[in-house]
Amino acid sequence: MMKLSKKIIDIEPSSTVILGQKARELISSGKEVIQLGEGEPDFNTPDHIIEASYKAMKRGETKYTNVAGTQELRNEIKKYLKNEHQLIYQEDQIVVGNGGKQLIFNALLASIDPEDEVIIPTPYWVSYPQIVNFAGGKSILANCTESNDFKISPKLLEKLINKKTLWLILNSPGNPTGSVYSKQELHDLAIVLRNHTNVNIICDDIYSKIIYGNEKFFTLAEVAPDLIDRILIINGLSKAYAMTGWRIGYAAGNLSLIKAMIKLQGQSTTNASSVSQAAALAALTGDMKFLDDWNEKYRQRRDLTFNILKKSFPDFNIKPMGAFYHFINCEYYLGKNFKNKKIHNDMDFCKYLLEYFGISVVPGTAFGCNGYFRLCYAKSETDLQIACKKINQFVSLIK
Ligand code: GLU
Repeated sequence: MMKLSKKIIDIEPSSTVILGQKARELISSGKEVIQLGEGEPDFNTPDHIIEASYKAMKRGETKYTNVAGTQELRNEIKKYLKNEHQLIYQEDQIVVGNGGKQLIFNALLASIDPEDEVIIPTPYWVSYPQIVNFAGGKSILANCTESNDFKISPKLLEKLINKKTLWLILNSPGNPTGSVYSKQELHDLAIVLRNHTNVNIICDDIYSKIIYGNEKFFTLAEVAPDLIDRILIINGLSKAYAMTGWRIGYAAGNLSLIKAMIKLQGQSTTNASSVSQAAALAALTGDMKFLDDWNEKYRQRRDLTFNILKKSFPDFNIKPMGAFYHFINCEYYLGKNFKNKKIHNDMDFCKYLLEYFGISVVPGTAFGCNGYFRLCYAKSETDLQIACKKINQFVSLIK
């Protein structure tokens, strides 16, 4: 057996990625599976973006680019952050990478020393604690309750900060809960953060464009501009533009951190794909009308699935305000039996749902919150309808 490092043995594989893979394998082996596990839009990347990438290839943009990304793309991201959030960054404060995840990875690896602590509100996106662990830091999980819409309160934040705290990770709209921090809530968190100059903040804004109703998205730096030097913004094209496979994310922040992230990226993957960068440029400069249409579709799908599933889950109360996930309390069914098998926990619940009904969802445990499961509703209405009916049928057989 090949020797493996303690570091790699100590981290868990990504459960969202594994479930996505498992569902794809089952589908290719001929099984009927509806994939509501991995979070990605069912829409195809819009044609004008695909065409722009083709044209770029024909023009010869098939070579290395600067490690940090093409000048055109960084410049467009700079404009975007100014127009959307009134944030002023220089081009060298922006780095493009292979998806938001790589940028979070680079930021944490470039900044964490042993003993450094990272505050992560729970439920969290599966990769945060694992990356912190890999970087040699310590995750401090902030237990956020459903009664507070799964958001961290200023009081809890204050309680968890100490001299070792290096980062707080904020994710709004949140994965897996869809919670959105209001301007006031960010303002209140900023009051705490101002008093602790050792704390930096990662704002994972990857779902910023997927938001419903009257809710408006704010990122911390626009609410608290005085903290901008301690904030790292993470965003990307994957979710909003249905470009998960193109792998384009970006980060904007403190110059010395961005330089360190570029140094690390230069020693690992070099630049993000040149072709994908051309596509991202087209996405950011082209017609964005489709984003509203898609959001409206997500909203309808959210309501459709909520209305069907509400009948079976008595503690399913929150309609997400952003992103495209339901985080559903399934505690009512735990400890009971399905086909004479005990459902011990949310993992058993999800396992039987996949094995017997071909529906793939992610157990809450993967997000640090037992007794729930996450369902991605960025799928066709037909699939959602069938899937929800099957979920209801499954739970009706639990005794
Ligand atoms: N972010 C998505 C999810 O939570 C995609 C998979 C991943 O990178 O974790 O499902």
